[in-house]
Amino acid sequence: MSKFSSSNFKDQKVLIRVDFNVPLNSKFEITDDTRMRAAIPTIKKILNDGGMVILMSHLGRPKGGPEEKYSLRPLIKHLSELLGGVTVLFANDCIGEQAYTTAGMMRPGEVLLLENLRFHPEEEKGDEDFARKLARLADVYVNDAFGTAHRAHASTAVIAKFFPVEKRMFGLLMESEVKSAEKVLHQSQRPFTAIIGGAKVSDKILIIENLLKKATDIIIGGGMAYTFMKAQGGKIGNSLCEEDRLDIARDLLKRAEEQGVCIHLPSDSIIADKFDNNANISTAPSNDIPDGWLGLDIGENARSQFANVIKRSKTILWNGPMGVFEMNNFQLGTKAVAEAVAEATQNGAFSLVGGGDSVAAVNQFGFADKVSYVSTGGGAMLEYFEGKTLPGIAAVSAL
Ligand code: AMP
Repeated sequence: MSKFSSSNFKDQKVLIRVDFNVPLNSKFEITDDTRMRAAIPTIKKILNDGGMVILMSHLGRPKGGPEEKYSLRPLIKHLSELLGGVTVLFANDCIGEQAYTTAGMMRPGEVLLLENLRFHPEEEKGDEDFARKLARLADVYVNDAFGTAHRAHASTAVIAKFFPVEKRMFGLLMESEVKSAEKVLHQSQRPFTAIIGGAKVSDKILIIENLLKKATDIIIGGGMAYTFMKAQGGKIGNSLCEEDRLDIARDLLKRAEEQGVCIHLPSDSIIADKFDNNANISTAPSNDIPDGWLGLDIGENARSQFANVIKRSKTILWNGPMGVFEMNNFQLGTKAVAEAVAEATQNGAFSLVGGGDSVAAVNQFGFADKVSYVSTGGGAMLEYFEGKTLPGIAAVSAL
């Protein structure tokens, strides 16, 4: 059993770093509460043990001081509902007398939500003194914000050292994120296929480099595929291309060959005469796209080419869509990949979908519960697969 699950929090004050950075509309209503829901099991476990929960989070990007539109206050009511009517107290500032007094008067079973951490510029600077002031609020520190684990901020990393080893730990969400990511990167069963898509090669170079050491197959789709096509002498029309990354693309292809990793590029593409759902549409080999046309999705052959590789895989990592899936006419490639990942998963593969747009795609197409794990942390998951140490994980794990 994990440290969190085996702990008893009776009469303990537990400070949890959550990721409540939820979207709000102009009436301050929550338009997507996924991040709040994700933290509920951790909070409930502590309350059920007879503990007290103090929650801290950031919301949006305030410019270094309090701003009404980034207040966490509008979350109180919904949080209480998600917890089945539990009393949720609020402190107008995450540190200072009001926060300390309210925390001091808490009773078991209560929750205190602190105002936005980023109203203090010290949060993002990873300021020690600010972290120490936050730490004063509680007996135990729990980090359950995987989405910010790649940031060395006061509340995500620096604070951990102010708690003894046995009093700092990951929450249930963070535990499952880390466990799933480790399963892919360090305990993968082969064949291990990484599916990398999206717009830009430049964003994905580091992840591809790191995966060359781990994967058996790397599928490259989306806009970034055309830089690879051009690097090999292909004609890509007006498709997305990063001219300054052609050498890197060639180098990655060469290294893959040397290391025996199979890189799969889309054999054909759905092409359009403009970047528009209502454009004229045709198909072409991905390395022979006429001038004036651009590849906006992988083609029919590429769909079955990629699906075949995916279906024989035992470990699958998916980051980035295969085409402009936001437009109806260019979503077949991403859908086909989602279907193949779901089928492989049903046949025993472990599949992890991570990174903003592929997560949005599996949700949109209704495949989220047909893959093994959908990560909540876009940037954090990407950095993890780039092979970087995440400060939020390192700080809690440090002895
Ligand atoms: P990323 O954030 O790098 O994962 O990129 C995701 C974005 O890439 C999505 O908004 C897609 O619409 C876009 N995208 C995928 N394929 C293409 C393509 N062939 N041409 C232009 N944009 C694309």
